[in-house]
Order: sequence, then C-alpha cells, then structure tokens
Amino acid sequence: MRIALATEPGDPQRPNEDYASAALPASGEGGALVLLDGVTPPEGDVGCVHSVPWFTARLGGAMLELSVSHRDMTLTEALAAAVRTTADAHRDTCDLSHPRTPQATVVAARWSGQAVEHLVLSDSVLLLEKTDGSVHPVRDSRLDDLPAPVRARRAAVRALPRGSAERAAAAREYVRAVEALRNAEGGFFTAAADPSVAGRALTGTTPSAALRALTALSDGAGRWVEVFGAGSWADCAALVAAAGPQALIDRVRALEADDPQCAAFPRGKARDDAAVAHVAL
Ligand SMILES: [Zn+2]
Repeated sequence: MRIALATEPGDPQRPNEDYASAALPASGEGGALVLLDGVTPPEGDVGCVHSVPWFTARLGGAMLELSVSHRDMTLTEALAAAVRTTADAHRDTCDLSHPRTPQATVVAARWSGQAVEHLVLSDSVLLLEKTDGSVHPVRDSRLDDLPAPVRARRAAVRALPRGSAERAAAAREYVRAVEALRNAEGGFFTAAADPSVAGRALTGTTPSAALRALTALSDGAGRWVEVFGAGSWADCAALVAAAGPQALIDRVRALEADDPQCAAFPRGKARDDAAVAHVAL
C-alpha cells in the first residue's frame, strides 16, 4: 500500500480551493481517500461569511472520518451525513438556501481486502487501474452534457478576443445560463448544503483483486488530458504511478505557462487549483 497526495493553488496569491486527504485506519483493514474541488464563487454576496477552503476542509474532513469510522455506511450515506454536518456548522450564520452557498465536487474511494467502493460527483475524476493494465475513468459527464444553447454560448465567448468588453459581456451571459442549471433538474450537481445531492453521485464497487491502483484528480489536474490532450487517462495514471502526483501538476503548470492567453487551449481559468491523490493497492 502506497499513498501519495499533491495539491497546489492555481494562483499563489489565492487560497487553494482543492482538498485532498487519505486515511489508513489503525486496524490495517483498508483505507479511504477523499478529494474535493471547491467551486469558486462569483464576486459579490453568496450568503456565507466563510471561505471556500473553510467549507472544503469541513466537508472533506467529515467525509473522510465517516468513511473510515462507519464502514457500515455506504459512501452515499457518508456524503449525505458529511453535507449535513457541514451545513450545521454554518446554518446559524449563513443563508444556506443561496444558490452560490459554498459547494464542491467530490471524489471518494474506500478499499478493503475484498472490495473498492467509489463515489464521484461533478467534474473531478477517479481513474481505476485494473490488474490487466486497463484504466477506467469514472467521470460525471453532466457538466459536458449541458443543453446545446448553453454550450453554444460558451463557444461564442471563446471566439471573442480576450480582454474585450464584448467577451466580458458574453461571459456574464454564459455564467448566468450555467448558474441556472446548478443543482437543478436537468443540470449538474455539486455538494453544497442539501444532503440529498449524495443520491446524484456516480457510485460503484470493484473487487479489490481486480484493481492495482486508484488516481483521483481535480479538473485542474485532469486538464492534462481533458484540455491539453497531452495523453490519455491511461497515460495520466501511468505518469502519476511512475513520477508521483506533483509531477503531473508540474506538467500541467508547464502547459499552462506555454499558453498564457488560453489561445491554443481554450479554458475558463489560465491556471486552476490542482489536486492529485494516488493509491497503489
Ligand atoms: Zn458560511
């Protein structure tokens, strides 16, 4: 069993909104990992006096603790309970009904001698590397599958010159259209203050004997594949296994630095927070 974690803010002047953790309970019977990507809020009031890192530390900490101490709970149940516990921590001070109340994507995995359970919500990715060498990405594609008019708006934004007033105006319209789909039927789901969102996550179980490794990635790290096309998910898993999580983040930073205007590789943020967790079973 070997576990490696790395995370780095996209902008060294701003707090990292990604979160990565792993636990090996004292019993020696398996372990768990939890990786979150906090959603950057827009400027202005979001109904919460706390920060995104405040939220991800509480949600991630509760999720990891429940995953290893309550092995009778499913990961879906653990996520629902962790969302509830986190909401309770600021219910008295904050407006949790605000659509931009702090929220995060979630990847969780829990392994034992018998099975590896996983849970994925929103656009972070879990790579399952099988003993036959094949790599299976567990991805929640609901953000890719936004309605065609919304995707067309995004393409229109990216076609306008960076820094122009037209682009800024088109971007605001696009963001408004996406926001209307956040945690809404037919849209996409992130872990915010409503425990029922746990039921929207992708989950599954794989026999431990069939798996060699797990790699969890926030989209800031997964952009090595999804934005830059520098390799396949299998290449990505192989790079992390061979050179470690930080090596993947370093490669992403180099690709971002080569395209600072996001001209060759259109993307929302020139640099994004990145987190990678790797477990060699
Ligand atoms: Zn708050």
